[in-house]
Amino acid sequence: MSTILSFIAIQNGKPTRSSFEGLSRARHLAAQHGHTLAAVVLAPDASAFTDEIARYGAQTIYTVSDPIFAQHMNAPVVRALEAVIAQVQPALVVFPSSEGVKDVLGALAVRTHAAVLPDVASFDLADGGVEATRPVMASKFYARVRAEGEPVLVSVRSGSYEATESPADATVEALPFSFDESSLKQTLREVVGAATGGIDLADARVVISAGRGVKDEAGQHLVQELADVLGAAIGASRAVVENGMFPATAQIGQTGKVVSPDLYIGVGISGAIQHVAGMVNSRVIVAINTNPDAPIFEVATYGIVGDLYTVLPLLIEELKKAKAVAA
Ligand SMILES: Cc1cc2nc3c(=O)[nH]c(=O)nc-3n(C[C@H](O)[C@H](O)[C@H](O)COP(=O)(O)OP(=O)(O)OC[C@H]3O[C@@H](n4cnc5c(N)ncnc54)[C@H](O)[C@@H]3O)c2cc1C
Repeated sequence: MSTILSFIAIQNGKPTRSSFEGLSRARHLAAQHGHTLAAVVLAPDASAFTDEIARYGAQTIYTVSDPIFAQHMNAPVVRALEAVIAQVQPALVVFPSSEGVKDVLGALAVRTHAAVLPDVASFDLADGGVEATRPVMASKFYARVRAEGEPVLVSVRSGSYEATESPADATVEALPFSFDESSLKQTLREVVGAATGGIDLADARVVISAGRGVKDEAGQHLVQELADVLGAAIGASRAVVENGMFPATAQIGQTGKVVSPDLYIGVGISGAIQHVAGMVNSRVIVAINTNPDAPIFEVATYGIVGDLYTVLPLLIEELKKAKAVAA
């Protein structure tokens, strides 16, 4: 029997939803293959998260508490995870595919002599190895990949699995950690907040994405109003980032962020391949576009052929009514 270890990323003071998606998948595999399930969390006070992590079925939770984890810094994260992996000797380590994880995965693989399967859309244990599918070439194709040996490090795209609770009586093990800050070769000067209405785009359940069809302030206002009604994060195509209407942090696509929310609403977006690469894994895709032949309709679950300046006010009004009835 081996251990599957799941890394719980902390963002804005709480575990990310995609961490629990990874942990839920790990729990399923551990039960199926007779492995034990463990989780690891790094934070200034990592013990604050153990109750929540236990709800997702981790049998052992390793906590590493240190003020240095208040902001993401590669070196201490790699050092801490290396030590945890050396102690736990897991067969597989599951990560959410976050920006921070992307930063550390390579270094961690080198230091732990691990194989890495980054940014996968699905993964399984098969014939003594780990098999996964991962989108390649701007999500135009999926590659099936396989890694052998132990440990294997897998990072999983958000939205690939459901986060499902299955409470366990977890054992919590606090691991000692010290880090000499003067050894840091990198210093964090400032974290510039993303202008997505306080909701993190990569972790959002609902995303409203604006494209060049949004032509002016009135259009921006409609997008914001729809986002407010739905509690959504705002994304954008490169076209409206380049023309300065939306911040660079909102860009979705090949050279922007990858999102996979439950609901993606593309507003005045044509659906260029480079944009679709960043949103095609969304569960439900709604496209609003005046052009019935726009490529976005090829990936959309529901399409509305119409002018956003007419459609959005109607949609916002109906959603407000539905919310009032539900309240
Ligand atoms: C190397 C490279 C990397 C790139 N990376 C990215 C990336 O990461 N993300 C990205 O988004 N793009 C990226 N691009 C750019 C990409 O190719 C497209 O140019 C861009 O996505 C187009 O943005 P858009 O859909 O908003 O604009 P357009 O293609 O101009 O489409 C606007 C759409 O709005 C519709 N429309 C117009 N008026 C209205 C209205 N009133 N109501 C409703 N609909 C309306 C039109 O019918 C049209 O379909 C990249 C390009 C390259 C070459």
